[in-house]
Amino acid sequence: MTTALNGELHGISLIAGSVPSSGGASFHGFNPSNGRPLDPAYTSASIADVESAVAAAADAFDSFANIAGSKRAMFLRAIADGIDASAAELIERANLETALPIPRLTGEVARTSSQLRLFAGVLDEGSWVTARIETADPTRTPPKPDLRSMLRPLGPVVVFGASNFPLAFSVAGGDTASAFAAGNPVIVKAHPAHPGTSELVGNIISHAAKQAGLPGGVFSLLFDSGHQVGAALVQHPEVKAVAFTGSFRGGRALMDLAAQREVPIPVYAEMGSTNPVFILPRALAERGEALAKGLHGSFILGGGQFCTKPGLVFASEAPPFLNALRASVVSSPAFSLLTEGIATIFSKSVEDRGSMQTAKGTAAGEGFSAQVSLLETDGASFLADHSLAEEVFGPTTLLIHCTGLDQMLHAARNLGGHLTATVLGTDQDLADSADLLRILETKVGRVIFNAFPTGVEVNHAMVHGGPYPATSDGRSTSVGSQAIFRFTRPVSYQGLPQTALHPALQDSNPLGILRLWNGAWQMTSP
Ligand code: NAP
Repeated sequence: MTTALNGELHGISLIAGSVPSSGGASFHGFNPSNGRPLDPAYTSASIADVESAVAAAADAFDSFANIAGSKRAMFLRAIADGIDASAAELIERANLETALPIPRLTGEVARTSSQLRLFAGVLDEGSWVTARIETADPTRTPPKPDLRSMLRPLGPVVVFGASNFPLAFSVAGGDTASAFAAGNPVIVKAHPAHPGTSELVGNIISHAAKQAGLPGGVFSLLFDSGHQVGAALVQHPEVKAVAFTGSFRGGRALMDLAAQREVPIPVYAEMGSTNPVFILPRALAERGEALAKGLHGSFILGGGQFCTKPGLVFASEAPPFLNALRASVVSSPAFSLLTEGIATIFSKSVEDRGSMQTAKGTAAGEGFSAQVSLLETDGASFLADHSLAEEVFGPTTLLIHCTGLDQMLHAARNLGGHLTATVLGTDQDLADSADLLRILETKVGRVIFNAFPTGVEVNHAMVHGGPYPATSDGRSTSVGSQAIFRFTRPVSYQGLPQTALHPALQDSNPLGILRLWNGAWQMTSP
């Protein structure tokens, strides 16, 4: 049975299980509810620590990449069990460091362990390696060689923890789970806003690696309050890929660093998205008040600090909808935001758009607090000012009064890349605006009908991605089992004897997986 670890915090990086950290400057996490620093102090990793963590990861790669998928699945399940067993202390510490409410964090713990188990299931099933086999035909002219391909891991992957998901997008979050599942060692750069939560989860992973008999280098966790450690990791020649969730500025800086390397590497950055919502006329007339309540609940959820927050809403003017939305905003409480920086950027962004503010909630209070705010403008003004489409992270949304469907379609065509787009309407509305869906599918990773975009299912069909600048590479997802493909590359093996082939490619199909055999998908070999 898995038991919770001793939750004592030491404030130092965890390098390859046991390598001591040489350390640098110290910093603290903060309690966003009152703005006060939290103990213990955390010591930033040094460049020597980066070297040790990456060297250990590179050493661990060969054995971790080549153990059976079932063994990696056991490792992922052990981490999931450790997280569940430590749920109470993880929630307590994450609540202190982020001010996210206990029910939200309880759900996040469950999501974190269930996504690790999702990838364990993918490994046990095994077909994710996408085995393709073309058998030899010596009678053909020219003779056809035996050629077999499958996906292989990349090497050490660097993961940047996100501020707004201290568990599900941080140390043992979706990026780490998918990189591990594919067979890559992981080095996490902890987000400085929740170092204690990061250390607790880091200990769980280190413990699971040790119990599974894996080399210590499969996992390291480095702390830093600045950018030195993150930049050094991205530039290190032994690092083969990067995963990041956060600001456009941060993601873009990492993309540029990776592109400037002697050997460039992929950066999977999930950055800003304003998640446009289109409210179509019949739905607006039939259920305007209910839509206003649903929209309000979605854009203030988690203090508006979700990457899928609906930040742009296109609708014609309709008093029942408008009055209900403004009334909901006026009765909204203030929210503690995650960091002082996020609270400051939020207040400044709302202040800059002050002439558009039509309703506001309870005034901000102590700590990193923010007032809920509704902004409104008209379609022509929105179309004339590109900056209005930029993400404002926090509890606000911009309602754009459109003159009709044509203006909505014009606005849709002008959108950049986003994670989601939502259409609220009746079936007749949809039939009347068929062009809208065709435009939106070119702009986003997920098109939603009659639901709100916050709330991201983690399963085999989820796409949490979207064209640039929502992400650095719109061909991928950072949520759901398809995230594993980001940390792989296809390799072909020509003419190898059966004994030298990976089991996934051997004629007898010992893993019993689905394979493309001479052009036909099948589970058995002919
Ligand atoms: P951030 O600035 O993107 O930082 C995320 C992580 O990357 C942190 O560990 C950060 O270190 C590091 N980092 C940032 N720039 C870097 C650089 N140039 N070189 C190396 N490392 C770098 O995000 P944040 O502080 O959490 O929030 C700031 C803003 O990001 C928010 O106001 C919001 O607009 C946006 N955000 C968006 C999402 C989303 O899902 N769309 C999620 C979270 C935040 P430091 O903390 O030391 O800078």
